Amino acid sequence: MSEVIRLLPDNIANQIAAGEVIQRPASVVKELIENAVDASSSKVELHIKDAGKTSIQIIDNGKGMSAMDAQMCFERHATSKIEAAADLFNLNTKGFRGEALASIAAIAHVELETIEKDQEVGTKIEIAGSKISLQEPCSRANGTSISVKNLFFNVPARRNFLKSDNVETKHIVEEFNRIALTHPEIAFTFSHNGNVIHNLESAGLRKRIVDLFGRNFNNKLVPIEENTDLVNLKGFIVKPEYSKKTRGEQYFFVNNRFFKDSYLHHAVVSGYDNLIAPKHFPSYFIYMDVPSETLDVNVHPTKTEVKFEDQRNIYSILRSTIKLALGKYNIAPSLDFER
Ligand code: ADP
Ligand code: MG
Repeated sequence: MSEVIRLLPDNIANQIAAGEVIQRPASVVKELIENAVDASSSKVELHIKDAGKTSIQIIDNGKGMSAMDAQMCFERHATSKIEAAADLFNLNTKGFRGEALASIAAIAHVELETIEKDQEVGTKIEIAGSKISLQEPCSRANGTSISVKNLFFNVPARRNFLKSDNVETKHIVEEFNRIALTHPEIAFTFSHNGNVIHNLESAGLRKRIVDLFGRNFNNKLVPIEENTDLVNLKGFIVKPEYSKKTRGEQYFFVNNRFFKDSYLHHAVVSGYDNLIAPKHFPSYFIYMDVPSETLDVNVHPTKTEVKFEDQRNIYSILRSTIKLALGKYNIAPSLDFER
């Protein structure tokens, strides 16, 4: 018997892709908030029910979509963000794969309402299991609202593997924190089962950190800054005496994107030298800018890893910047006193 090769139908291909991009409710939150930010929103609302298992809604005041785009956005590899391979090395947006909405619509019930700036009529679409069941005009003031219900309704194995509400909520909070820290200039709200968890006004970085993690953070923070040809660094690290036994708030961003990097984490810790006790971790909020052609963000669909061309030099610059900042902080109290 000869084998027959077939192209998979779109709904199955989307469901397979969804397994990569959407692991849990927090993945939906990440993708949808990133889209809202990419749409130049100045305010983004996140509402979840039952840790996102029942529903996740994101409302933005961004540029919205035309009726045609609203339909297109659920197609796989449909993106308005890149056109050519070269664009991959000059990304100004969070998204670029055009996979998120197609994936989400393959494994959940999705309701989209959107209106373009200066238009009178918007578009409403309902889609589930990759099939559009309703498309009609709607009225709304501005921006886009997407609600995602019954996640994994047609992938029972995935649904059964979801953790407790507590654990899933923690993952969502973490995604929310990352994007809220990337964009302190954007106002964000976050509610869970109708209870407001955060109501963050547009702010500078220090205020955003304090609004997210509590007022006691205000006097824990030491600013860092360094500008070189390879990398510009800014942000805050905590004073050594506030390092913790548990992993605390460790945030790296590069070119407006959160990333994880154990090598650079080591650079930070070693910059503290023997100022912190063994097995203690400092919290940090470190923002890097590197020339976009020296950075590859196209490593994994969920994109928390990046590749730097100049990793080793960045390590040294980071480490010495931390040392310098802590040195200044150590003498700063007496300087303050003299003033
Ligand atoms: P990507 O973000 O990688 O382009 P997505 O599947 O997340 O892929 O989104 C597909 C497209 O839908 C985006 O490129 C954008 O044009 C449009 N889109 C999605 N969300 C929004 C939104 N909140 N506001 C305006 N346009 C959006
Ligand atoms: Mg996207």
